[in-house]
Amino acid sequence: MIIDPWGSLELSDYEKLFKEFGLERFSTKFNLKHRFFDRNIVIAHRDFQKVFIRIKRKKPFINITGIASSGPLHLGHKTIIDFFILFKKLGGKNYFGIANIDGYVSRPKIKDMENANLWAIENLAHALALGLDKKDIFIQSKQNQRYYTFTFEISKKITENVFKSAYGHLDLGKVSANLLQYADILHPQLKEYEGEMPSITVIGLEQDPHAKLTRDIARRLPYPMELPSFIYTKHQSGLQKGTKMSSSEPDTAILLSDKPAEVSRKIARSFTGGKDTIEQQKKLGGNPDICKVYELFKYHHEDDKVVERVYTKCKKGKLLCGECKQLCVNFLNKFLKSHQKKLQKTQKIAERLIKTL
Ligand code: SF4
Repeated sequence: MIIDPWGSLELSDYEKLFKEFGLERFSTKFNLKHRFFDRNIVIAHRDFQKVFIRIKRKKPFINITGIASSGPLHLGHKTIIDFFILFKKLGGKNYFGIANIDGYVSRPKIKDMENANLWAIENLAHALALGLDKKDIFIQSKQNQRYYTFTFEISKKITENVFKSAYGHLDLGKVSANLLQYADILHPQLKEYEGEMPSITVIGLEQDPHAKLTRDIARRLPYPMELPSFIYTKHQSGLQKGTKMSSSEPDTAILLSDKPAEVSRKIARSFTGGKDTIEQQKKLGGNPDICKVYELFKYHHEDDKVVERVYTKCKKGKLLCGECKQLCVNFLNKFLKSHQKKLQKTQKIAERLIKTL
């Protein structure tokens, strides 16, 4: 089974993936307190144990993730940034990549680097407004020579056949993007950066081909390296049934730049687990487990009590979808209003960081 990291389908057959890919189920022995762990948003890991030990012993580890600059950020991206901030607070050495070269070379819709850089500014402004510091950031096109040399070194450690069997194609733009992604994850372990050290990257399950190949490459490189660790999240799904939240299909996603009317419109049209009639819902209850509105609360509302209340009242038929959607709209618009206010400052910082040098 090939998982396409660029695909747009929702992954639901997790059990099969555990078996087929040999991922370890995320265990409660990793007693980290956060909504992502408490609410089963993290489902699997590769080798997280060694990072967990570093966290418990208050020793440094590398915290590395990134976003390809290919479109506006949405709430799914916010989850990745929230994870990054969590590991930053837990003592990580931080490397948040603004992957503008990756964005250009792997996405046909990005016509040139100028276009990728415009998205890089947009993405970076949001990331800073969500709580990242400019010290946490690296911009792919502004890395030093060591990084680029390292990226080319990596190309010697992977063959066409391995690439094709992992991804099912040999698209040159995506091959280049992948080499950069392997370098993004591994370069902090070079002696010119932090040196050999466990690292953690949070990814969706469909990104597992990257994870496995990155570990394989780390084994083959002529440098002392810890195999990078990964934790896997259930991707937040799109607002419509059977979709992934994607900037390319704006109606599947709440964008971080959405205005209140847009949020209301999208939530009004989103797929719920409600019954066909009010009477049926009052009698039988709704199904929050398949509901996109509930999923928004589950991924983003910080208060466990609010999330539990929505779940329970829905199940008992004591909350109807119209009222629930309005609660969700109010919650999202409150968050977005405060977030977008911070953008006024961070936009200028982001422009300076991307445009200078
Ligand atoms: Fe979803 Fe809320 Fe309707 Fe329940 S009441 S199905 S959680 S929208």
